[in-house]
Amino acid sequence: MFGAEEYGVDLEISTTDVDRLVDVTPSDVEPTDELSFARNVFVPLTTACRYTCTYCTYYDPPGAASLLSPDEIREICERGAAAGCTEALFTFGDDPDDRYVEIHERLAEWGHDSIHSYLREACEIALDCGLLPHSNPGDQTREQMEIVADVNASMGVMLETTAEVQAHGGPRAKEPGQRLATIATAGELGMPFTTGILVGIGETMCDRAESLLAIQELHERYGHIQEIIVQPVVPNDRWRDESPDLETIRRVTAMARVALSPEISIQSPPNLAPVEDLLDCGVDDFGGVSPVTDDHINPEYAWPALRELEEIAQSADVPLVERLPVHERYVSEEWISSRIEAAIEAEDSAGRRYRSLLGNAA
Ligand code: SF4
Repeated sequence: MFGAEEYGVDLEISTTDVDRLVDVTPSDVEPTDELSFARNVFVPLTTACRYTCTYCTYYDPPGAASLLSPDEIREICERGAAAGCTEALFTFGDDPDDRYVEIHERLAEWGHDSIHSYLREACEIALDCGLLPHSNPGDQTREQMEIVADVNASMGVMLETTAEVQAHGGPRAKEPGQRLATIATAGELGMPFTTGILVGIGETMCDRAESLLAIQELHERYGHIQEIIVQPVVPNDRWRDESPDLETIRRVTAMARVALSPEISIQSPPNLAPVEDLLDCGVDDFGGVSPVTDDHINPEYAWPALRELEEIAQSADVPLVERLPVHERYVSEEWISSRIEAAIEAEDSAGRRYRSLLGNAA
């Protein structure tokens, strides 16, 4: 199903469940009693990407793509740590292919034969600065994920959609089956994981329901999904279409709440979605918000200040709590490495123990 078998993943989604989910409305869900966020720094490790999604301004073509040096990574992480961040969010394109000759040459100069080997060094730098790494390196094989698993508190990749859409088209199309395989691999390796759907890239309501049910099925198998993002596509230099309308994003957010187990957070990105109008649709998390760096994936859409998030939470009459990039139920040797557990026990630059942020959004 969805081409996932090609990658060794079996999924069974019934049309009855899809139909049931498509009928969900916001009145079918309870509003949250708490909103959470994580304080992060964005570290755009490389803008090289083997794909060319038509809504994406993050990737740069061969010859123009950037690769942060170890010194640049350290500078960003130190700035983040000094500002009280807990998370280093490593963003990628997706495994740079052979067209990115300069990227591979630079990696070789720095002693690395792959972007994952370099990501491991980057995560070590973040840990050294007192931040918990959360990496989003796109599709990954088991071998690639194993290289970085023990130096990440959690990892993620957007499923976006199980549908074959034109927005992923062209000679280098991203495949839903491969994304599902990456999510399944994270489960097999016991990696706390974040995923989500991108709304408005040509998928139907049934596709959205199938995508959410596919994520839920993988969570039932492995128990590793800590949050899912319901993200509307937004206009930018490469995507001229509109965002989905409010009614659609409200329905899809409610669908996510109904489809996913209650322990999975439903995240709405406050710089991209009309979060004030989604608080009665099951949203309980704002995701990573950075006091020091831009959203490099959506640079035209600035983060709101934390004060604005507090005001939004107040308007819903619920507390706003800070959380870590790994939720409390995963803080055990079954899920995270001893290095990550030690980092959680350590104090940050302000003398605060990260452990004190557990219990929030767990
Ligand atoms: S959305 Fe992700 S996979 Fe697609 S082109 Fe952008 S960086 Fe690459």
